Amino acid sequence: YTQLQGKSVLVVGLAKSGMAAVHALRKLGAIVTVNDQLPYKDNQDAQTLYKQGIQVVCGSHPPELVGGMDVVVKNPGVPYTNPVIEAAMQRGLPIWTEIELAYLLSEAPIIAITGSNGKTTTTTLISKMLIASGIRARTAGNIGNVAVEVAQQATAEDVLVMELSSFQLAGIESFTPQVSVLLNLYDAHLDYHGHRRDYFAAKAKLFQHGENQQAIFIQEAAVETLRAYDLLTISDFESFTSIGLSENGTGIDNGALYVKHQQVMKLEEIVLPGEHNHENIVAAVNAASIFGATTVGIRQVLTTFEGVSHRLQFVRSLHGRLFYNDSKATNTLATITALKAFKAPVILIAGGLDRGQGFDDLKGQMKNVKAMVVFGETKEKLTTFGESEGIDQMKAVDNVEEAVQTAYTLSASGDVVLLSPACASWDQFRTFEERGDMFIQSVHTLN
Ligand code: ADP
Repeated sequence: YTQLQGKSVLVVGLAKSGMAAVHALRKLGAIVTVNDQLPYKDNQDAQTLYKQGIQVVCGSHPPELVGGMDVVVKNPGVPYTNPVIEAAMQRGLPIWTEIELAYLLSEAPIIAITGSNGKTTTTTLISKMLIASGIRARTAGNIGNVAVEVAQQATAEDVLVMELSSFQLAGIESFTPQVSVLLNLYDAHLDYHGHRRDYFAAKAKLFQHGENQQAIFIQEAAVETLRAYDLLTISDFESFTSIGLSENGTGIDNGALYVKHQQVMKLEEIVLPGEHNHENIVAAVNAASIFGATTVGIRQVLTTFEGVSHRLQFVRSLHGRLFYNDSKATNTLATITALKAFKAPVILIAGGLDRGQGFDDLKGQMKNVKAMVVFGETKEKLTTFGESEGIDQMKAVDNVEEAVQTAYTLSASGDVVLLSPACASWDQFRTFEERGDMFIQSVHTLN
């Protein structure tokens, strides 16, 4: 990785991933300049770097900074409308995220996972399946471990399992994983991306060096979408891996999961709830078995793994009621997915930040919802919606603790109590994790 030796690189946006990028770039022999929005006097990160002899420009984004630069590395959170990034684009400079650096530094083979929904679950499944099969695996990227840091720690004995958002993928150039997974493509993230094509184009970038990687596409519809936008042209990718049994003998058929023509287990033995998880499981099994995951390892994971926290996570059973935490459901699509996972009557706890959105998407999806308990900024809107859907029992409360109490009072043995808010958490919490933790804590106080 000598290509950055002596090159001038501008890092825009610090925080965790920016800091890691700076250290990686220095290791790669680059001359680094840093630009961050936060003024120097309040900017701990910038102060630390300045003391290490790195040039820092803080408090604004002067476009002239790109003069003399060879490459720009931006934090995935910095928009392309940032004046420095715009100036870099005008000059035709490469604009990377730290994912590209992670690739340049990694000795470990890489499995990359992207898609609109199911990324974290699939990434976790793959790494668990590898580990359960005696193979060293590390997760990185959008899942929370800064990719460039993990990539530096990993050796050729490890497998790097990377969850990648479209923001991260927008800034790759040579990045070519051994195995790339595209789960699905939905429009839920478009309020950030502005244009549908840009969002799809970022996802498609993962496959731009097609000849050197194995691609796993789970939905034919996603492949068709990319083709329709002329974003996927490589003929190698004619075939895709469906949830059903594919040519390689892997997939779901007749109520059972198969790997390479061998039956691994009946579907009812799988602990992860919901049919949407079948997509994630088949993708994971395909990817993990390329790196040697065994049927024993795969079985072990699928008979024990209850899901990533806050994603349709089973919390507790109490007097015949089952409590599930799906705090990650920050939009209506996720709540619909959650509701589909249950046949039993559901008491749905929903509500949160009001983005000015409506809940029309949920129309006709509430067939097994016998009661709704709503909270947060959207509680009035949700009450109106619930009444129009003819839900018998609607209760509006002030917070998650009260919602849990109320839902429990309304419930009977055999019911599911589900927190799946269909809204972001920022009206009352810092993160959806905090909201989910509050739910779990409240559920554990019930008796
Ligand atoms: P991501 O990392 O892409 O946000 P997660 O694995 O964290 O995805 O799952 C988030 C939520 O998305 C889940 O709670 C579930 O509601 C929904 N979901 C997960 N997998 C899928 C899938 N394959 N198809 C549709 N929805 C899914």
